[in-house]
Amino acid sequence: SREWHLVARPHGWPTPADFALREAPVTEPAEGRILVKNLHFSVDPYMRGRMNDVKSYIPPFQLDHPMDGGAVGEVIASNAEGFAVGDHVLHGLGWREYADVPARHATKVDPALAPLSAYLGVLGMTGLTAYAGLFDVASFKEGDAVFVSGAAGAVGSQVGQMARLKGASRVIGSAGSDEKVKFLVEELGFDAAFNYKNGPVKDQLREAAPDGIDVYFDNVGGDHLEAAISSLNVHGRATICGMIAQYNDTEPVAGPRNMAMIIGKRLRLQGVLVGDHYGLQQQFVQEVGGWLAAGELKHRETFVEGIENGVDAFLGLLRGDNTGKMIVSVTR
Ligand code: NDP
Repeated sequence: SREWHLVARPHGWPTPADFALREAPVTEPAEGRILVKNLHFSVDPYMRGRMNDVKSYIPPFQLDHPMDGGAVGEVIASNAEGFAVGDHVLHGLGWREYADVPARHATKVDPALAPLSAYLGVLGMTGLTAYAGLFDVASFKEGDAVFVSGAAGAVGSQVGQMARLKGASRVIGSAGSDEKVKFLVEELGFDAAFNYKNGPVKDQLREAAPDGIDVYFDNVGGDHLEAAISSLNVHGRATICGMIAQYNDTEPVAGPRNMAMIIGKRLRLQGVLVGDHYGLQQQFVQEVGGWLAAGELKHRETFVEGIENGVDAFLGLLRGDNTGKMIVSVTR
């Protein structure tokens, strides 16, 4: 079985030399464990943080050990009650072909209800992040004007559509290519969108939201956050979900220069960690499942095929190669 190891800690942008695809033996599962043939695994921006040797909300990857992360696959041997050969499961041991998983860390999923990859995206971690970050953390309410950055990505594309479905007065998104901007407006029903590479975010946001915004969902940080603070209306709220613009920086970056506006406008900026919100899981799956079944909510996936291309998929994610959720399909 092949698995991806981190072999050096990246300084700045990771390079292929920081990783190695290595062979590992496949063994029969011990008591309470299942052996899973992985079909898809997730690559996510937070994994960049786990490549640094720093204390955070999640421990760093260990050098010369397999990396981990969300995956879905088929049970091919079981030594655990409640799991049978042929079952499909969601679990946390991605980045490898075969996973020896403690059954208590596996969740059965139904491929008849949704394609398996959806459990890594729209019905999984990134979908729940969007749902919890918008409704719980930003306290979104009908009539709010919403701006989301990273809008063509896994989380952002769901935030914008969820806001529209719940009666936003205006939904604005930013993304890194003209093609993605077109996708947001023409396929996902955003009211306005812009390419942040085409000019200052502050000016483009002003133009897209002349009456200001009530909610900002931040996936990017940097000049996006500064622009949003300028455009937020009185009592506006921002969910700080990610700051991908700085994950590969080697020096601390300067913060927004307009923080004093938070006072006069009584803004609320609040971080979100999806791990706090699994209590919403049932409600989330029910509501989002309903929207999907009715064709009201769309979700795009970008598949990279072959475990040997897993690292390329991750590096591509950081560069913006993906539209929607980036997924690695283990076999071609
Ligand atoms: P995405 O699917 O959005 O993929 C990442 C995207 O980031 C790329 O496609 C790229 O799109 C964009 N990007 C890369 N560099 C920059 C940059 N310098 N400036 C602006 N955009 C950039 O990933 P996810 O949906 O999985 O994650 C989105 C954000 O949410 C990330 O910041 C992530 O860390 C965060 N997150 C946080 C969670 C939490 O619990 N707090 C949980 C899950 C995700 P483009 O072409 O538009 O540049």
